[in-house]
Amino acid sequence: MRHTGGVPTDPDVPAADVPGPGPAALEVVRGDITRLEVDAIVNAANPSLLGGGGVDGAIHRAAGPELLAHCRTLGGCEVGDAKVTPGFRLPARWVIHTVGPVWRGGGHGEAELLASCYRTSLARADEIGARSVAFPAISTGVYGYPPEDAARVAVTTLRSTPTAVERVLLVAFDDRTGAAYRSALGEHRGPR
Ligand code: ADP
Repeated sequence: MRHTGGVPTDPDVPAADVPGPGPAALEVVRGDITRLEVDAIVNAANPSLLGGGGVDGAIHRAAGPELLAHCRTLGGCEVGDAKVTPGFRLPARWVIHTVGPVWRGGGHGEAELLASCYRTSLARADEIGARSVAFPAISTGVYGYPPEDAARVAVTTLRSTPTAVERVLLVAFDDRTGAAYRSALGEHRGPR
């Protein structure tokens, strides 16, 4: 199995190394983002930053109560923006909390707001010197964003955003999200 900084990646999925201003490598990883040994993980938070369900709940549970105490000092976060905290008990040193848009049919600026989550998270990663960053599929859970559309926004935005981040892990918690990322990356699994 290929390893990327201690993170086992799916051996069937090649890294999509593309020239361009974005990170050198975008990789699809299956599993739980809270276990990844990367410099920073991104949280799909809600505007209060005071915890919730889904990946947000998992991150707070794994990081410990210090995370909530720290988040209480931040004054919330706008949709499309991102704020940084330490990772506390997580293997990741930092958590970048971003707030994705709630899907309302696609005609309410959802794509631009979701793109802003990815762009702003990379900007925060640059501010803290993170070189490896793992993203969950922001907005595609409780917020209802169709995973295929969200994956296209994620890949397009990450590829076109100038950054010093070297490796981005796209974390798929389920099969549909993994397939959506592979399709957006232009990778196809078929008989070889
Ligand atoms: P949102 O409110 O932005 O939709 P959710 O947490 O409900 O956020 O879902 C975002 C994505 O995170 C979904 O694809 C969900 O399956 C996934 N997810 C949930 N738990 C985890 C986890 N521990 N690690 C990685 N992804 C997760």
